[in-house]
Amino acid sequence: MSSAGLPESFDPTVTAREAFAWHGDVPVSDFTRLVDLLVAKSGVVKVQLQAAFNADRRPSMTLRLSAHLEQSCQRCLQPVTVVIDHEHKVTWVANETELERLDALEEDSNADMVEYLPMPDPARVLTLEFVEDELMLSLPIVPMHADCALPIPVDETADDHPFAALAQLKTLKH
Ligand SMILES: [Zn+2]
Repeated sequence: MSSAGLPESFDPTVTAREAFAWHGDVPVSDFTRLVDLLVAKSGVVKVQLQAAFNADRRPSMTLRLSAHLEQSCQRCLQPVTVVIDHEHKVTWVANETELERLDALEEDSNADMVEYLPMPDPARVLTLEFVEDELMLSLPIVPMHADCALPIPVDETADDHPFAALAQLKTLKH
């Protein structure tokens, strides 16, 4: 497996202390919830993870995700390739109370978008689920072609179409 070495789960404080870093390819088919939103489950997601402590000593994880995923266009229903190129930082806080306090502060200060998550108890985060949550957040709300190549509607019968009649004549000559 190309996702070899990716830990099944991690403790955010331990990974931050170890400055844990990982990069590799994870098969799209490993993300079972994501696959439900796609029309093809082939290919891989390039994943980079980098753990660190923030300036305020809170454990964090920076994720970099890139992939080409096939979704169904919501306008023409044909497959559309969605390009994921997503970098995001998640910071764990002590609990829900601290989370609420920080989210309120964020709204006031208009600071850069940081995603805070409450530290789970016990302190284990399932790695694939964690990456999958971010992947699903990075998908477009409404996947759509920039310019759909809509098929030309066929609403004329061959009988009353002059060019169709001409084509028929040409066929007869051969
Ligand atoms: Zn389309």
